[in-house]
Amino acid sequence: DKVLEVVSQRLQTSIREYDILARFGGDEFTVILKNVSNPEHLEKIANKIIKVIEEPVHILSHSLHITTSIGIAIYPEHTTRKENLLKYADAAMYKAKEKGRNNYQIYSVDMTVNAFKRVTMENSLRIAIKEKQFIVYYQPQIDARSERLIGMEALVRWNHPNSGIVSPAEFISLAEELGLIVDIDNLVLQMAMKEFLTWKESGLNPGKLSLNLSMKQLNTDNYVKNLLAYIKMIDFRPEWLELEVTETQIMKNPEMSIEKLLKLHKHGISISIDDFGTGYSSLAYLKKLPLSKLKIDKSFIDDIPGDEDDAAITKAIISLAKNLNLDLIAEGVETQEQANFLLKHECYAIQGYYYSKPLSGDEMREFLQGAVTP
Ligand code: C2E
Ligand code: CA
Ligand code: CA
Repeated sequence: DKVLEVVSQRLQTSIREYDILARFGGDEFTVILKNVSNPEHLEKIANKIIKVIEEPVHILSHSLHITTSIGIAIYPEHTTRKENLLKYADAAMYKAKEKGRNNYQIYSVDMTVNAFKRVTMENSLRIAIKEKQFIVYYQPQIDARSERLIGMEALVRWNHPNSGIVSPAEFISLAEELGLIVDIDNLVLQMAMKEFLTWKESGLNPGKLSLNLSMKQLNTDNYVKNLLAYIKMIDFRPEWLELEVTETQIMKNPEMSIEKLLKLHKHGISISIDDFGTGYSSLAYLKKLPLSKLKIDKSFIDDIPGDEDDAAITKAIISLAKNLNLDLIAEGVETQEQANFLLKHECYAIQGYYYSKPLSGDEMREFLQGAVTP
């Protein structure tokens, strides 16, 4: 609330007295600028707004940094209908968000097409959740020394009735934005844990099950309690479970993450940091987090051993993990050379196409039946 107050005051100072400022719900504001002689003037105001909001907001002892995304639609050039004016500004704002925030975009026709796609996508995602159109794939995680399976990461796929299998890259970020990720992750969790149990019951050794955990999910009320209750209900065990949280998501709200993750950890669930090296981790927080594992991001693995910088970063992450007493896994390993480099520098756990692509449940069962497992 305090942030909203500060932001509205700052917005007020960026516009003329006879312009209209309104909060549109959530963190969205609308400004109506009257009698604007030319578009350059609009751009000036947009830049001014971005600048004033960029200034840190001080609340209690915290210094908060806020970004702005602005969409602009012009009457009567873009439309003469007031509903459309807002809709178009909204579409332009999404474009600004996509561009990485702290910028403005002026409406253009192709944005309506995109906005339409978004709405269609949103509707079909909601149906997908209702009809449980999701399936889980599993990617093996291998100890490169023994070539034994140590675990697997569950990766969601959308089995769309018309389009077939849709990759998470196409829908996860929209699902996050709309909060639908919570339902999707719940479905994935249930399907993956149940399937994992059937392998256990067949005497196979699937190692540990790793699930991607969204911050939105972790933030739901009673998340930890519900998860533990579910584990108990289906006779799963906390020590078979690992949760992957991305570095960027944790660092958005480290204090709260620490508290919730500590609870999970206390009950025997392992936590690993996903996409490690791509965000800005505070080492102080890293020490406080109840982590078991760092996952070295694929972007560093891609160009090893050839690229000196990436090789150096990879080695640095490996020694950081060693010093903090954390397990390590490299993801996105595709070649023998990459695997050899990692082995030489004592990163033994490997996930990537080099060993296997993500597999359907049936394929995973076959993999487990054939795999040398401890
Ligand atoms: P991620 O967690 O970083 O998952 C690893 C991604 O890298 C997976 O993509 C995997 O298929 C891909 N990958 C693994 N090894 C290789 C390799 O050797 N080469 C290449 N080119 N790619 C490799 P996928 O399955 O498309 O998932 C993309 C992202 O979507 C995931 O990235 C994760 O952030 C998200 N995601 C997937 N499933 C879930 C889920 O159930 N819940 C949530 N919240 N996010 C999910
Ligand atoms: Ca992951
Ligand atoms: Ca990752």
